[in-house]
Amino acid sequence: MFKRILLKLSGESLAGKQGYGIDTERLHEYAEQIQAIARKGVQVAIVIGGGNIFRGLSGSKQGYDRVKGDQMGMLATVINALALKSAFDTIAQPSRVLTSISMQPIGEYYSHDKAIRLLEEGTVVILAGGTGSPYFTTDTGSSLRALEIQADVMLKGTRVDGIYTADPEKDPTATKFTEITYDEVIRRGLKVMDQTATVMCKENGMPIYVFNMDTPGNLARVINGEQIGTLVTP
Ligand code: UDP
Repeated sequence: MFKRILLKLSGESLAGKQGYGIDTERLHEYAEQIQAIARKGVQVAIVIGGGNIFRGLSGSKQGYDRVKGDQMGMLATVINALALKSAFDTIAQPSRVLTSISMQPIGEYYSHDKAIRLLEEGTVVILAGGTGSPYFTTDTGSSLRALEIQADVMLKGTRVDGIYTADPEKDPTATKFTEITYDEVIRRGLKVMDQTATVMCKENGMPIYVFNMDTPGNLARVINGEQIGTLVTP
């Protein structure tokens, strides 16, 4: 069983069926799944994306300055973090928002020591703002924070139940991997995570587990060691 996890939730999954913004039902479902494992003693840090609101790269294609666009994207992750924090508050789950950019009182400025202290206390830590720097993504933010907090695994909760040979939503012949190496993910150009994040996990030996978080109870199944997704290993 994993004791300390870094859970990456993409902004897109928060959008649910709407495809944009925050699907409140989905948000609460996630909060409940996370609370269920936190109550079993798993230390949970969450990195949340912002793609349901704004992405710097798409912004720059529409004429926005890239750095400004990325900063807008990072602020989008903060909006999602506050929504998730609010969902935790309604179910009395202790949680705290730490931001990679100083913006008190919206969240406290991230520090490694603070994050560890909160995790050890049983508080769910929501890490907002990605890395705090442009030209990165929240996938990279996740690999960075997973390593910093010495997580046992980086869990990537998506709407697909693992890594496939091709996008299963587009290619019906795509088959799923139970296990795959970092090199194979990179060689095949699989879009499970961006390559910077994959390489960072590879170089530092951080296992990645990709699973479908949209089925209630799946997070607990992964924690209990059920093989419902894909493990990325050396
Ligand atoms: N972003 C950034 N630096 C980071 C993390 C995020 O500049 O360290 C910006 C970037 O523009 C990105 C946006 O924030 O497109 C939203 O994050 P991401 O695309 O990773 O969200 P997700 O795909 O997980 O919803």
